[in-house]
Amino acid sequence: MPSVYIKTYGCQMNERDSEAVAAQLVAKGYTLAPSEAQADVILLNTCSVRDFAEQKALNKMVNLAAETRRTRPDVVLGFMGCMAQSRGQELIDRLPDVDLVLGTQKFHRAADYLDALLAGRREKIVDVAAEPGSEATIREHLLYGNAAKNGDGHRPPLPVTAFVSIMQGCNQYCTFCIVPYTRGEERSRGIPDLVAECRQLVSQGVKEITLLGQIVTSYGKREGSSREAKAEGREPENFLPSTLDPRPSTSKSPFVQLLDAVHEIEGLERIRFTSPHPKGYGDDLIEAYARLPKLVESAHLPVQSGSDRVLKLMHRGYTRARYVGIIDKLRRARPEIGISTDIIVGFPGETEDDFEQTLSLAREVEFDQAYIFKYSQRRDTPAAEMPGQVPQKIREERNQRLLEVINEIGRRRYDAFVGRRTQILVEGPSKKNPARMTGRTRCNKIVVFDGSERHRGQLMDVKITRAGSFTLYGDPAIVNL
Ligand code: SF4
Repeated sequence: MPSVYIKTYGCQMNERDSEAVAAQLVAKGYTLAPSEAQADVILLNTCSVRDFAEQKALNKMVNLAAETRRTRPDVVLGFMGCMAQSRGQELIDRLPDVDLVLGTQKFHRAADYLDALLAGRREKIVDVAAEPGSEATIREHLLYGNAAKNGDGHRPPLPVTAFVSIMQGCNQYCTFCIVPYTRGEERSRGIPDLVAECRQLVSQGVKEITLLGQIVTSYGKREGSSREAKAEGREPENFLPSTLDPRPSTSKSPFVQLLDAVHEIEGLERIRFTSPHPKGYGDDLIEAYARLPKLVESAHLPVQSGSDRVLKLMHRGYTRARYVGIIDKLRRARPEIGISTDIIVGFPGETEDDFEQTLSLAREVEFDQAYIFKYSQRRDTPAAEMPGQVPQKIREERNQRLLEVINEIGRRRYDAFVGRRTQILVEGPSKKNPARMTGRTRCNKIVVFDGSERHRGQLMDVKITRAGSFTLYGDPAIVNL
């Protein structure tokens, strides 16, 4: 049985895609190699969001090719994901040792293509064509059944949390972003299909599900729209599962209807989602936070800039006031909610005054966590051609200044947990210190505590004793009877 090793770069969507490909390959008889050195097939699942991520994957492939072609010339080497999609054949022209280039709508073809390459029936394969319906093929999970077939005979414990891919693509076309070009138009899976996948996960022990998509607040809008359907010569799709009220809901967006349907699943304890977009963040979604207890008090809402002028240049489709308004409503609905965001510094044309407005937004909103990105020019995106490109030195300096503000606020918000009791879902051993266990609060903070394997999968109360850098430390709370 051939063995495969997949190395993943980039976001949670990529992690999820890699998992689905691995599960599909295992189902076809492949084993999962514990390292590149033991694999018959090595796939790099790539990211194109920043130039740095692309260069990392390219350098990795150069090194892999040099190593494997010397000692194990039959190893199949492949690129998949966003960079594979955007560069296609160019990758093989540049790196002739690469055998396979698999685009973002072709993950489900991996097994067929690898079989052909391993059997010597094909020399090279590049497939980056669009494929209708491919969004519904990211559905297999590496759970008990197929994970048990790992090549090293090791049976990993059942996962407690899982990601479910609800849609692919994005139609927002933010001027800095390459995703609409690498992932294509928005395509959503139907609610019954998603509920079935979630149910299956819960029946296998999953307690927490994160619904994933590039822009989840647009979920189902294209498929449910009669205007789009007419243009495409089809009937608008019904996104409601047959178990729910089949009358179309006019007040609830398809995404909130999906949340309602997933919330019904017995045995599921927690629901998260990422990433929403402020533009499509309706009151129905805020109201869902107040209404659905399994929807945890956590919201990741990318803001990107605190300056209206820059938001407009970015083609984000909202203002700072609109963003702050959503946060206010969320905090009114759930006062304990943890808020995280993404921010870009050094976008073309960003002045010192624009940047000061981002600093003031960070202070006003008081994010629990923020992921800061120095603007990276992506080819074929409008921002790459904009005047006023900000020099690298200034991007770095702004990154540092914002980081200090974010860290200072984060420290305060984490310190406020010390002495409090909070519920966590125990996920498994801590990555840094496997002798300790780790869990996550409902507001998405990691808690490390002295526990054991028997705690895995439990919802338990801990008393927070100390706050570190974006990590809490706790003791299991003793209930006083
Ligand atoms: S909303 Fe903007 S940043 Fe997010 S994936 Fe779509 S284009 Fe990219």
